Amino acid sequence: MRWILFFGALVGPGVFCREKFFGDQVLRINVRNGEEINKVTQLMNSDNFMLNFWKLPNTFNRLMDVLVPSVSLQPVKSFLQSQGLEYSVAIDDLQSLLDDEVKEMQWIEGKERSGDDFNYGAYHSLEAIYREMDNIATEFPDLVTRVKIGHSFENRPLYVLKFSTGAGKQRPAIWLNAGIHSREWISQATGIWTARKIVSDYMKDPALTSILGRTDIFLLPVANPDGYVYTQTKNRFWRKTRSQNPGSRCIGADPNRNWNASFAGQGTSDNPCSEVYHGPHAHSEVEVKSVVDFIQEHGNFKCFVDLHSYSQLLMYPYGYTVNKARDAEELDKVARRAAQALASLSGTEYQVGPICTTVYPASGSSIDWAYDNGIKYAFTFELRDTGHYGFLLPASQIIPTAEETWLGLKTIMKHVCDHLY
Ligand SMILES: [Zn+2]
Repeated sequence: MRWILFFGALVGPGVFCREKFFGDQVLRINVRNGEEINKVTQLMNSDNFMLNFWKLPNTFNRLMDVLVPSVSLQPVKSFLQSQGLEYSVAIDDLQSLLDDEVKEMQWIEGKERSGDDFNYGAYHSLEAIYREMDNIATEFPDLVTRVKIGHSFENRPLYVLKFSTGAGKQRPAIWLNAGIHSREWISQATGIWTARKIVSDYMKDPALTSILGRTDIFLLPVANPDGYVYTQTKNRFWRKTRSQNPGSRCIGADPNRNWNASFAGQGTSDNPCSEVYHGPHAHSEVEVKSVVDFIQEHGNFKCFVDLHSYSQLLMYPYGYTVNKARDAEELDKVARRAAQALASLSGTEYQVGPICTTVYPASGSSIDWAYDNGIKYAFTFELRDTGHYGFLLPASQIIPTAEETWLGLKTIMKHVCDHLY
C-alpha cells in the first residue's frame, strides 16, 4: 500500500489519465513513386481510420511513418496489401514504450525533487524545465536573464533565456526556438541542454566566447507549453497549440503554419481538425504572436533557428514556394558545413536543402517568416532519428543528440557573427 501511495505521489495525477495506445502500431510504408504517393494520399484523406501521420516521405527518405489505432490495423493493412504498397511494423507495442518513457521520466524527477541536480539525459515536465531555467539565470546573473515574452493560450508563461555579455538592447541577436511542435520532445530537451552548455562553455570555448562577444543569444526551449503539458497529461502525440476553434470540436492550430509567410498557402489546411491547420489568421496563436512581437520590437535579429524532430534534416527557406531564396547559395553552404560539424561527433548523417523541395511545401512556417522579415540566417533542424523510434526517441539519446546539434549550431552562429549585416 505504501508503495502504491509512494508511486502515486511520484508520478503525479496527470499521467494516469493519459490516452492509452494498447495494440496500436506504427507502420512504415515504403512510398516508391508518384503512383504510390497517390495511393497513400487516399489513406491520408480517409478520416475513418483515425490515422496519425508521424512522417511523410521526403526527397532523401521515401518511408512514411503512420500511427494506426488497433481497430484500424486490419483494414489499413488490407488496403496496403491490396494496393501493392510495401510496409513494415516500426513500433509493435507502442503502449509499452510509452509506459517505459513515463516511468523513467517520473523516477528521475522524483530524485530531482529530493535534491539531485537536473538530469540533462532525461525528459522533463514543463515545471522542471522552467525551474532549471531559473536555476541557470540565478547561477549566472552576469550572463543570463530570464525574460517573459508572453503567455500561452492557457496562460502559461513563455520564458526565454537571454545570454548577453554586452550592454544595450540593440546588439545583433540570435533566436533559438525549440518545442513549437509539442510531441517532438528531443527538441525541448536539446533546448534546455543548450542553455546549460552556453553557461558552462562561456570563457572556456573560444568559439562560443567570441560569438557572445559580438551577439546576444535568445533561447526559447518550450515554444508551445500548453501542447507540451498536454503530451504529458493527455496525449503523447499532440502536435498543435491548445487554442479553441469557435464552431469546431477540434482544438488547436499548427503553430508552424501560423506565421505570416504566405499564410494559408500550400501545405496547410483550413480544417481545424487537421494536424496542419493554419489557424483563423496569421499570428492567431498567442505563442506565435508573442515571438513575432518580441523579435520585431527588438529589431536586430540576424539569425533564427527552429528545432524540430524527426528526420535528421537541416533546412532553410523557402517552405512555401519551390522558388529559390535570394541567399540560397550561402545558406546551403552554411548548412552543409553545419551538418558536417554535427556528423563529426558520432557520424550522424543529416541531409541539407530548402524545406519545400527537401520535405514538402509548408506555408506559414517560422523560418520563412524570419527570412522574409530580414533575418537572413534562418534554419530548421529536424533532429534524430530517421524513424526507428520517431517521437519516442529514448532519453539515452538526448545528450548525444544535443552534443552533436551544438556543433551544428555553433557553426551557424559563428558564420552569422563573421557576416553581420
Ligand atoms: Zn515539428
